[in-house]
Amino acid sequence: MAQTLDGKLVAQKVLAEVKAGVSALKDRTGTVPTLAAVLLGDFAPSKIYVANKKKMAAEAGIASRDFLYPEGLSQPDLLALLRRLNADPAIHGILLQLPLPQGCDEDEAIAAIAPEKDVDGFHPMNLGHLLAGAPTVLPCTPAGVMEILDHYGVELKGAEAVVVGRSRIVGKPLAQLLLARHATVTMCHTRTRDLAAHTLRAEVLCVAAGRPQVIKGEMVREGAVVVDVGINRLESGKLVGDVDFESASKRARAITPVPGGVGPMTVAMLMRNTLQAAKRQLQV
Ligand code: NDP
Repeated sequence: MAQTLDGKLVAQKVLAEVKAGVSALKDRTGTVPTLAAVLLGDFAPSKIYVANKKKMAAEAGIASRDFLYPEGLSQPDLLALLRRLNADPAIHGILLQLPLPQGCDEDEAIAAIAPEKDVDGFHPMNLGHLLAGAPTVLPCTPAGVMEILDHYGVELKGAEAVVVGRSRIVGKPLAQLLLARHATVTMCHTRTRDLAAHTLRAEVLCVAAGRPQVIKGEMVREGAVVVDVGINRLESGKLVGDVDFESASKRARAITPVPGGVGPMTVAMLMRNTLQAAKRQLQV
């Protein structure tokens, strides 16, 4: 049976470091890092994500301010709000919860956030820095995956790494981070012919497809390390990943569970990014 890669445990470690950093920053400058949480619309999962992020912020000593618009906002009003937050020196990070309701242009909104306050790491300039090999702020989920791999001492140099999914927020930046650590990286997507032929080669298999249990045990290489980014709620209400945990854990050497794997890491990395953003803005 595979070892469980415990994201909750690693997230607690990151959070403790952030908490110490926040406290040191406060002692030195009198400033409490502050996160603006912007939530448009009434999408239940987004409300839960924002509540979780605020809870973890409070645990880390980070202040949060709410900008909640259950009725939504027009695109011009959203851009005006983001400009206001950009200009407010008391706000160090802006969390714009995605997806935005229909009618809002996500790309334009993300690009309107000041890059130095983009604690999600989605701004094109920050993604560009990552591609250029000089990252400033890292997207939280891929950074969280790397933190788990590092915590458990997974060797990446020269490893065959396969990333299933090529989204801008998970798959692409994760592939870039693995490449930067000298893995040999293959990216798979919906047009990939014979997905299993690729996943079976993976020593490190990272799955962010948004399809419940699409990766079965027989698609996993014996002894692989499997990171399951997916979070899917089945009709039964059960949360599952993009990997079939039961069959995959019979072949993998180590695997992240869902829940309790990558999810808590994403929020912990957001806290780390907020602290770093505050430090950069305060130039300490
Ligand atoms: P997207 O829907 O934006 O992207 C999914 C990607 O997977 C696409 O590139 C798509 O390919 C590819 N894909 C879909 N189905 C298949 C398939 N059958 N075979 C191969 N590739 C496939 O999703 P996200 O990247 O935003 O999220 C992925 C998953 O991770 C979701 O379950 C999401 O809930 C979860 N998530 C979890 C987070 C966490 O904190 N743990 C944070 C963010 C996301 P194509 O490009 O060709 O369409």
